[in-house]
Formats: sequence, structure tokens, C-alpha cells
Amino acid sequence: MYDKDEIKQNITIEQMIDIVEALGASTPIVRSEILMIENICHNLPGESRGHKLYYYDNTKLFRCYTDCGEYFDVFELVIKTRKIQENEDWEMFKAIIWVADFLGIAPKLKEFDDMDADAFQFLKEIKALENKISKFSQKREQELKIFDDIILNNMSLIPAGSWLREGITIDTMKKYGIKYYLSEDKIVIPHRDINGNLIGIRGRTMVKEESEMFGKYMPLKIGDTMYNHPLSFALYGLYENQDNIRKAKKVFIFEGEKSVLLYDSYFGSSSNIAVACCGSSISSFQIDLLYSLGVEEAIIAFDKEFEELNSKEHKRNIKALMKLKDKFMNRMKVSFLYDSKNDMLELKDSPIDKGKNTFLTLFKNRVII
Ligand SMILES: [Zn+2]
Repeated sequence: MYDKDEIKQNITIEQMIDIVEALGASTPIVRSEILMIENICHNLPGESRGHKLYYYDNTKLFRCYTDCGEYFDVFELVIKTRKIQENEDWEMFKAIIWVADFLGIAPKLKEFDDMDADAFQFLKEIKALENKISKFSQKREQELKIFDDIILNNMSLIPAGSWLREGITIDTMKKYGIKYYLSEDKIVIPHRDINGNLIGIRGRTMVKEESEMFGKYMPLKIGDTMYNHPLSFALYGLYENQDNIRKAKKVFIFEGEKSVLLYDSYFGSSSNIAVACCGSSISSFQIDLLYSLGVEEAIIAFDKEFEELNSKEHKRNIKALMKLKDKFMNRMKVSFLYDSKNDMLELKDSPIDKGKNTFLTLFKNRVII
């Protein structure tokens, strides 16, 4: 059950910008409490000449100053755009669910009497399940499994040729204990917690078919043991580089392990202040870890996610990075290595993939938001 008016009244102007963009409008012009929007109310996106659809934050109402010539709310705008863009006739309830979904608002129990008993039971079960999941993840946080290092001793130290060619030195591979698991044709990457305990082993497959099916990186399985760990409860490279990070009070956060190794090869172990979050998001747990080392600036060095400036991907990427920044809640300065002019990196490149000079240029021009 959704409270239509409550949803409407609580929509912030920033959220409304997201909504009209999701409905196809280009970025609105913002004039204090008013949004001036491309007229998606009666035109297809991109076909409207001006921005004559106004949104007033004080009344939470839209007014179209051309063809429609009337006031309407966000739900009616959804209905209008679905009709124009998809030729679908949406009922009000569908528009309400769309807006609530978009904003991540969960339906709530308005009045017990409004609901039938089954639905109420269902919600109770969901709630119980959610509690279970959150308890489980708290537990997981405290209980990272620790594996016996001995498993690594049996693996060869043959340096991975493809990594050598990309610029990762043998010294670096030795420092991080990179090995080769011959029988599976995998580069072996041990993951440690801040105290050096082995908490997981990831493998980079060299078999093309396997990488296409399962991705390039996955936890290693040896015999019956799966060497996996929750990636968001550790930072790759933190064990090796913690003293440098404490001293510099700065850290580079890359997505993948390989960037940490490249950094090490380019700039030397004694100045390595790089870690990898092993994904494209940074967890609160990881931020806590860095904060506890006294980090004052986190330099996010994520892979490039767009091909063209001002494209949808580009806009989405910027939004995602802004959200990421918010996660730090001003506990430290946050900056980004970003290919702002779109002339230094290719799609999916890590900022360190194009060599030392490119990396240093990106660092010098890093973006602080
Ligand atoms: Zn209109």
C-alpha cells in the first residue's frame, strides 16, 4: 500500500530531476525552486523545442505552458509520457508504483484493516527474512574465514607471461605472492586481511571459454575447498601497503587487484599506497578500514565506464560516482581520477592501464567534488 500524497510531498528537487530524466527529458534547467523541463508531457523526448514544462517544488505540481496548458502531478506526468512514448494506457496505481519503485520507497502498512490477512502474513514473513539476512551479514563481517597458507606453497612461482608483458614485475608478483595454478591454468591471487591472514584466493583464468562463461576472476577451488570471501569486507593490498598509507594519509582505490600490482611495479613497494575494492562499489566497512588508518584523502581510480562525453553512460557514471562520494560522509576528502576530456583512456581501462605518464597526468588533474 502506498500513500500517494506522502510520496509526492517528499520528492526532493534532485529526485524530480532524476525522474524526469528517466522519463526521457534532457537535464532540466534549475531556477531556485523551479525546474524548466523539455515538454515530454505532449512531445516525444528530443522533439520538443523549448523547456516550457515547469515544475514547482513548493506545490509539487507541473504546468505545461504550451499544448497541455494545465497543472498535473508527477503520477499524471508518468501516465502522459507512457501514452506518448509507448502508446500504453496506464492506470493511476501503476504510475504510483513506478514512482515508488524508482525512489526505492517500500509499500507500507497503512491500516491493518486495509489489508487482507494473507498480504499481512506475507509482509511479516518478508520482515523476518530481512532480519535474518541482516543478522547473517553482521555475523559474516566478524567471521571472515581464515585459510591455511600451506596451500600456496604447492603452487609454482612461474610468472604469468601476460602480466609481465603488461608491466607487472617479478618483484611485485613475489611481494604479493602471485602464483600459478598449472592444472587449472589460472593466475593465483591471495587475499589477506589487514593482519596478513589468508582470507581468500582469487584466480584469473587464462582459458578463454571459461572467462567468457564465468568471468575472468573467480574464487579458487582446490579439492573440496572454495577459497572465497566476502569481497566488501576487506581491501586488496591493504595488508602490504598499510604503513605507506598511514604515512601518506592518502590512498588510491582501484577496482581490480591488477591495478595495485601495476602501481607497485611503476612506483616501487615503498611508495605503494594503492588498494583494490574488487568491484565497482566501496562498502562502509571498507571506508571504516581506511578511516581507521588515518586516511585524509581517498583517490578513487575506477575503470572508465563511458565512450562518449554527455552520453547516457557518461551521465550515469557521474551520478554513480557522486553517490559513491556521499558514502564517505565527509569523513575524508574524496577525489577521482577521471578522463574528463575523454582522451586518455579507453572503455573499461583502469587509470593505470595506459602507463605511468597517463596515470600521473590523471592524478595531477584529479577531480574533487
Ligand atoms: Zn504539454
